[in-house]
Amino acid sequence: MFLSVFDVFKIGVGPSSSHTMGPMTAANRFLDLILSNDWPRPTSGAQVASIKVSLHGSLAHTGIGHGTGRAVILGLMGEQPDSVDPDKMDGIISQVERSGRISPPGHPSYGFQPKTDLVFDKKQPLPGHANGMSLSAFDKDGRMLIKRIYYSVGGGFVVTDTELEQMRAKKKTPSDSLKVPYPFSSAKQMLDMAARSGLSIAQMKRANEETERSREELDAGLDRIWEAMRSCIERGLKVDGIMPGGLNVRRRARSIHDKLQEEWRSNRINPLLANDWLSVYAMAVNEENAAGGRVVTAPTNGAAGVIPATIRYYEHFHDDWDQNGIRDYLLTAAAVGGIIKHNASISGAEVGCQGEVGSAAAMAAAGLAAVMGGTPEQIENAAEIALEHHLGMSCDPVAGLVQVPCIERNALGAVKAVTAASLAIKGDGKHFVPLDACIETMRQTGNDMSEKYKETSTGGLAVNVVEC
Ligand code: SF4
Repeated sequence: MFLSVFDVFKIGVGPSSSHTMGPMTAANRFLDLILSNDWPRPTSGAQVASIKVSLHGSLAHTGIGHGTGRAVILGLMGEQPDSVDPDKMDGIISQVERSGRISPPGHPSYGFQPKTDLVFDKKQPLPGHANGMSLSAFDKDGRMLIKRIYYSVGGGFVVTDTELEQMRAKKKTPSDSLKVPYPFSSAKQMLDMAARSGLSIAQMKRANEETERSREELDAGLDRIWEAMRSCIERGLKVDGIMPGGLNVRRRARSIHDKLQEEWRSNRINPLLANDWLSVYAMAVNEENAAGGRVVTAPTNGAAGVIPATIRYYEHFHDDWDQNGIRDYLLTAAAVGGIIKHNASISGAEVGCQGEVGSAAAMAAAGLAAVMGGTPEQIENAAEIALEHHLGMSCDPVAGLVQVPCIERNALGAVKAVTAASLAIKGDGKHFVPLDACIETMRQTGNDMSEKYKETSTGGLAVNVVEC
């Protein structure tokens, strides 16, 4: 099993990797299919004249709050998550709404009326996954020419129904065909390979990544990821105001940051210093995410604050931090994230928030334990502690927006990650619950969880908080 660090950490836009970035990518894949001509024509010369999209399951239930409809329109206009300009998105959407047409680069324009051609179908989930969407293309007489089902399976990953079946049958991802020197797919295999090779987890992951790219390219890519995370924190600490979506939730990171800086300047003693800084960094990222800003999936957008907050904490509170440490952190965190994704899920719609913030905390704890000098066993222990204490956590975002409880939840996830790393580093790596058992428990718990608690906003806080 091999999942690249660049598949785990993807630069994109908020508020959701599965509900925003995934659908945007699916729309792009559909455009590529139209251009490829790799579809049977009922009559020679039949041309696509219009497109319709229907969203199902969790995408239908929480798609409005998660900006899924907007993401589909942007994707159909050829915009990509990693390059779309957040400041231009509103203008593109208005243009499509006004004209009733989409005009992606390299294509003729197609009919697409967002009000009628984009359907949120809450009644009929698709069979393969909770985040299903169907895209269809028609000729000028309304005859269907192409229909494709896509699933957004978490972290911005998108597969067709056929690809999903193949993945499940073989338990493989497309990148599995790559021959890597350390093909671990469980924590046990990772520890065994580390013991045999004498390498750290980061060194093994680096060796795997370097089968595809040079060391310089890998380091430059890792530095780009951290730079995007860092700028997201900086932007989030500067902006104030109400977040979009109608819940009227105010951004808090900036005012908390102002208070912390004031305390810092006046040398006031704050026994909760590290917790406060961790929280404000995580909240800054998730407020940016909620506002549709530029973020990095880590491993998802909803959980995007935990890892940047703990890396920034490492910079802030560890005198011996350096750029190589941040690279090792990201590689170690990605190794753990890959194992979780392979054996369970990182999708809130599949297993609840334990799979999003829980996975992020496990990855962050592992990364931090690595840069604190942890052995592979201590790193595995850190990841396990962090994940274990998120087990059972549901996904119940109020009004379908990635705001409540998501923003504070990332702050708490970051605090748990640091605590887990600290506890693990003080031990000898021996511990009671193996990480693999914890991941399997998360998978089973997610399977047993009612759909109400899996990103549908039909249970939990979503139905018990009065919106004002
Ligand atoms: S509750 Fe957790 S899983 Fe659900 S949207 Fe928020 S961060 Fe994502």
